[in-house]
Amino acid sequence: MAEKTEPANRYEFQAEVRQLLDILSHSLYSHRDVFIRELISNAADALDKVRFKSIKNEVISDNQLNFEINIDCDEKEKTLTIADTGIGMSEQELIENLGTIARSGTAEFVKQFAQESQDVNLIGRFGVGFYSVFMAATRVEVTSKSAHVDEPAKIWTSEGTGTFEITDAPTEQKRGTRIKIYLREDASDFAQAWKVRTIIEKYSNFVPFPIKLNGEQVNKITAIWREPKANVSKEQYNEFYKFIAHQSEDALSWMHLSADVPIQFNALLFIPKTNMEFFGMDSPDEGIHLFVRRILIDAHDKDFLPKYMRFLRGVIESDDLPLNISRETLQENPHLSKIKNAIIGKLLSHLQDVAKNDPETYSQFWKQHGRIFKEGYNDFSNKEKVASLMRFNSSKCEKGDEWVSLDTYLERKPLEQDAIYYLSGPDRKSVENNPALEIFKAKEIEVLYCYDPIDEFALPGLIEYQEKKIISADTIEPSAIEKIPFKENLNLEQSAKKKKELDQLARRIKDILGDQVEDVKLSSRLVNSPAVLVGQGMSSQMEKMMQFYTPNAKPKPKILEISQRHPLILKLLAMYKKDAQDKVLTIAAQNLFFSAALLDGSISDPHAMAGGIQSLMQEVVELYTIKSDESEE
Ligand code: ADP
Ligand code: MG
Repeated sequence: MAEKTEPANRYEFQAEVRQLLDILSHSLYSHRDVFIRELISNAADALDKVRFKSIKNEVISDNQLNFEINIDCDEKEKTLTIADTGIGMSEQELIENLGTIARSGTAEFVKQFAQESQDVNLIGRFGVGFYSVFMAATRVEVTSKSAHVDEPAKIWTSEGTGTFEITDAPTEQKRGTRIKIYLREDASDFAQAWKVRTIIEKYSNFVPFPIKLNGEQVNKITAIWREPKANVSKEQYNEFYKFIAHQSEDALSWMHLSADVPIQFNALLFIPKTNMEFFGMDSPDEGIHLFVRRILIDAHDKDFLPKYMRFLRGVIESDDLPLNISRETLQENPHLSKIKNAIIGKLLSHLQDVAKNDPETYSQFWKQHGRIFKEGYNDFSNKEKVASLMRFNSSKCEKGDEWVSLDTYLERKPLEQDAIYYLSGPDRKSVENNPALEIFKAKEIEVLYCYDPIDEFALPGLIEYQEKKIISADTIEPSAIEKIPFKENLNLEQSAKKKKELDQLARRIKDILGDQVEDVKLSSRLVNSPAVLVGQGMSSQMEKMMQFYTPNAKPKPKILEISQRHPLILKLLAMYKKDAQDKVLTIAAQNLFFSAALLDGSISDPHAMAGGIQSLMQEVVELYTIKSDESEE
């Protein structure tokens, strides 16, 4: 909240705003000129809002005014004034909009901004653009008259330190907002018209309202998405992208569409070079600009495209949609959903083209947006297409940042293999060391490596691709890949007689471990490790996720599989045959379980585990002491 203080019309900025203002006014930035872009962008927003009201025939004050932005420079006075005939602000709105940061998550932005980034370019993206004026101002006067007929005009004044004041404005004040900036000594060049003109040309060329500088219009107002493709240059596309997405770098790729039948629409959609979901929070400028017959209906339409395409920025316009429609009912409009499906289809084909013809760009796309795109596993009507665009690291890749597609995977798999296998873990190393992978390595079966939590939903969510089931490598029974031969002559099994003995050992180990495991079984998948924990139908990563979401649910005990050939197991068998109650056997069995749980990432009781290791050490040390005592004699 902006708090009221003495005198009666003085207010304190909210703490986050004070912090932001402090940073803004005390540092010198190379991109200081963005404050002009931010104020113009606010003016344009305000004009969009009032134009929207007026086309719906709502009552607005000063109906006769043109929708425009007027900028005046006064070199002598060292001031810059930016005025619009937009929706304006009431007293209450001035206090709230220019005294607080309402958006959740913005406090986090401010913190980050203070600590490291200080990239002023970001400022507009986080809903704090207005405050950037204090990079250049010693004092700011905002005079505003709301479009609401019975709200009186008010003046908001501040020096950008701790407080602002609200006073009455002259009654002849017309609708809109006028921001008068008293420039700092070191920023007085912003009072020079030529300088302001270059800034407008750089950042605000695409603002859809006339911007007049000392009375003369500066911007061109072209809706480039309505132009034929051949008329638009690469530079113009990028210039427009930077404007619409608040970006300083070029776009990675774009798609320009226009259709007349069965429904008229134009679309210009950009894939950004970097993912804009900063700091783990939603990007507030997410969504696309939706125009109906040249009128901006929604600047951040988040429902038009499916969630998994939320990295896209751009414009969609149709002349076949009704103008006098509310944002809410727009989404249910049948024309809109037709346009939507057409665009989604085109986008997926566009991505396929990029993947095929420009693998480098595709790989950049995947690196930045793949995580979001994978959420598309649940777009059932486009499932196969979406799946074919997914990429994964795999056992056949040499590094952690190489990718294969499901198609490549299927092309090079052995004929006998009838499923797609994947295994998840936090990183490549831990996946590679998972004992569940041993049999796949020994048979040279490719396994997709998954490091993103989303993979645990995406891959099982797809269920199958090209009629091949998608299965987690730590949930399959080795018999499922029986038909695929080992690359080297390997036998993981023992003779029937030996198996019987090993089975008894397994029973004994289950006795020792009790409820910690569901069962203890002989393994036909372990090549190098003595033991592994396997889940029942659910991959261990998935289990961890489930536990994260339902922390009170007790994890289901797993099955401990023991190798039939590992020397450690064979030694334990010998020990067991001599004395089934051997103390060391008990300690060893417990530690065998702990080590398997550790690899599986499912250690729930580190104290018990430390205790287990200590008992084992004690045994070893005692054994060693006896031996060395003997040798001393
Ligand atoms: P954002 O534009 O992202 O919301 P800003 O800090 O730029 O964040 O502006 C804060 C708010 O102040 C705006 O959302 C708007 O409600 C109000 N505002 C700013 N400038 C104007 C203006 N010229 N006319 C009307 N309202 C404005
Ligand atoms: Mg703004």
